[in-house]
Amino acid sequence: VCPGTTKSQEIIEKTKKHPCYSAEAHHTYARMHLPVAPQCNVQCNYCNRKFDCVNESRPGVTSEVLTPDQALDKFEWVKEKIDQLSVVGIAGPGDALAEWKLTKQTFENIKAVNSDVTFCLSTNGLLLPEYAEEIIQLGVQHVTVTVNTLDPEIGAKIYKFVVYKGIRYEGVEAAKLLLKNQLAGIEYLTKRGVLVKINIVMIKGINDHHIPAVVKKVKELGVFVTNIMPLIPAPGSAFEHFSQTSMKEINELRNVCQLDIQQMRHCQQCRADAIGLLNEDRSQEFRMCNRQTAE
Ligand code: SF4
Ligand code: SF4
Repeated sequence: VCPGTTKSQEIIEKTKKHPCYSAEAHHTYARMHLPVAPQCNVQCNYCNRKFDCVNESRPGVTSEVLTPDQALDKFEWVKEKIDQLSVVGIAGPGDALAEWKLTKQTFENIKAVNSDVTFCLSTNGLLLPEYAEEIIQLGVQHVTVTVNTLDPEIGAKIYKFVVYKGIRYEGVEAAKLLLKNQLAGIEYLTKRGVLVKINIVMIKGINDHHIPAVVKKVKELGVFVTNIMPLIPAPGSAFEHFSQTSMKEINELRNVCQLDIQQMRHCQQCRADAIGLLNEDRSQEFRMCNRQTAE
């Protein structure tokens, strides 16, 4: 068997146990998000990252931010209590690549004690060209990139600013830079066998009509699945007064895009510290402040 075949087989096996990449797996296997990445290098107009928020469940929300050492401690605790834990992901609460050292150290810490778990991360993609190779070398085989548009004019309405190599960009210039890096990073990963999932936030009146074009483009780049998600207008964000996209509208768009590529339909838009099966949230049970009392 050639080494390439063995590698592909390994990814297929891991994907079968990844609750987000496999609809069949999501009733059986659990994931945990480790909130070790608080910083972000982009400001999306729909995002407001909140720490210490118990009652909200959406991306960017977490009750705690952990160091890589605390993250290892938490992983060991959760692994002991949840047998079906198969995936450890880093989904912020900021961007997993904005402080790459923290994300990388967290995965390395866990790899040193457990070789079975599947790693995944999600990112806005701005720094993918810098870190894609290191991501691969670390053994991360599932990467999610949020790509909301291919059109910088639309991007200028979605992104307030982008900070890249110490320089702040705004408007069309910011969107162009982000898009260029996203597409280059996605292609780099898919060409090397990483399974890439694309999240797309459907924002009515801004990018909704354009989403099928995004899906076609990322399909061309070899992505595995696209995940069209409703806008959740975060309180305090620039899109706070937008109405939440209905699931009817989302599903209609998914049905159109399904003709091009498989659609994720079971995403729960989880918190950055989510733990458990996708349809449950055990994040509060596993807050590190409960660690001592729980033992
Ligand atoms: Fe929020 Fe993610 Fe956008 Fe950063 S990239 S502002 S964390 S939604
Ligand atoms: Fe999976 Fe969606 Fe939750 Fe991410 S947000 S862990 S893709 S269900």
